[in-house]
Amino acid sequence: MERRKVGILGATGMVGQRFIQLLANHPWFEITWLAASDRSAGKPYGEATNWKLDTPLPAQIAKMIVQPNTVPTAEQLASGEVPRIIFSSVDSPIAKELEPAYANAGCAVISNSSAFRMAPDVPLVVPEVNSDHFGLLETQVSRKQNGGFLVTNPNCCAIGLVLALAPLEQKFGIESLFVTTMQAVSGAGYPGVPSLDILGNVVPFIKNEEEKLEEEVGKLLGAFKADETAGTGSIDLLDAKVSAHCNRVPVIDGHTECVSIKLKTPASYEQMVAAWREFQPLRAHHLPSAPLHPVEYDEAENRPQPRLDIARGNGMATTVGRLRPCSLLDWKFVLLSHNTVRGAAGAAILNAEILAVMGKFKFAGARQEALVNA
Ligand code: NAP
Repeated sequence: MERRKVGILGATGMVGQRFIQLLANHPWFEITWLAASDRSAGKPYGEATNWKLDTPLPAQIAKMIVQPNTVPTAEQLASGEVPRIIFSSVDSPIAKELEPAYANAGCAVISNSSAFRMAPDVPLVVPEVNSDHFGLLETQVSRKQNGGFLVTNPNCCAIGLVLALAPLEQKFGIESLFVTTMQAVSGAGYPGVPSLDILGNVVPFIKNEEEKLEEEVGKLLGAFKADETAGTGSIDLLDAKVSAHCNRVPVIDGHTECVSIKLKTPASYEQMVAAWREFQPLRAHHLPSAPLHPVEYDEAENRPQPRLDIARGNGMATTVGRLRPCSLLDWKFVLLSHNTVRGAAGAAILNAEILAVMGKFKFAGARQEALVNA
């Protein structure tokens, strides 16, 4: 099968590097375009980036010239000079300006930034949890005009959290939850938090993080309501109270979260663990990046731990442990998720894989007849 050409906007950053690592031998996608800021444009990628990952930078990527962030013309898209599928990993203020412009030009933009996550016509998706929310794509003007669209993946803490919550919401319903995060320094990008602020320390504040986590859980676990006559739809937010404390801790990769939860229907320990272990909603699709078990429950009394459990499911699984009764709510447990793999680049790639399976990559000039309602 010919691989689809993809590009990365913000390719030199922490998340951009993860995209390169995870897409290096991807069976469905091939990187043909890399872009970043004016600081990097025009340089070979190997010179422009400060490679921080534990696998070597692929030689053919190191040689690629970083492109400027300029929105592509119809000719550049038609000729394949700029690919139609763009993974975006730029900061929110830049994303606000560039991502809609790329979608309007005719690109499928799959974004990591927070800029449009809560926009009513933009799907915020974790494929195992709410791929039906892609129905919102049909409300985007660019989609109707030229096939371009914008989808987002959630905040790095929200992804691990909703993977653990979705099976509980489906089986028992969630009334309220209280979550305290311990977030890795790679979540702040590079160079991120100064070493003198974080070594031997905990910083109990990450700007806007608690608000993002609370509201994104509501959208992710909300229900997509299709409007058949208009061919559109909207999301009914989850009717549950969510309260978050977010902290930065001196861990390199892996966000740990302590959760207390109140359910609508009582559940036993065995029922909770079975709900997590039986959760395999993508199994039939055989997506290259989907872990067989998106939620792994570990019975050991001292797990999960970032150093020991971060690579489960190739960094795409959420590890849950320490389920025990909570004297304030019903149950409490601990979860761990890889913030730059499952929490960022891997999440966007999984979104692209499910979008490919759903037939959503259809663009003007390529297959005009299949544009709308593809
Ligand atoms: P980062 O390491 O600071 O990287 C930022 C990237 O954006 C770099 O490639 C940078 O290029 C590029 N950039 C800056 N200004 C630009 C411009 N005007 N036009 C085009 N590109 C520009 O940040 P990061 O950690 O990778 O995060 C990227 C995005 O992903 C953010 O929105 C962040 O919130 C989100 N996110 C991060 C994580 C995580 O765990 N790190 C998780 C989930 C979501 P230069 O090198 O040329 O400056």
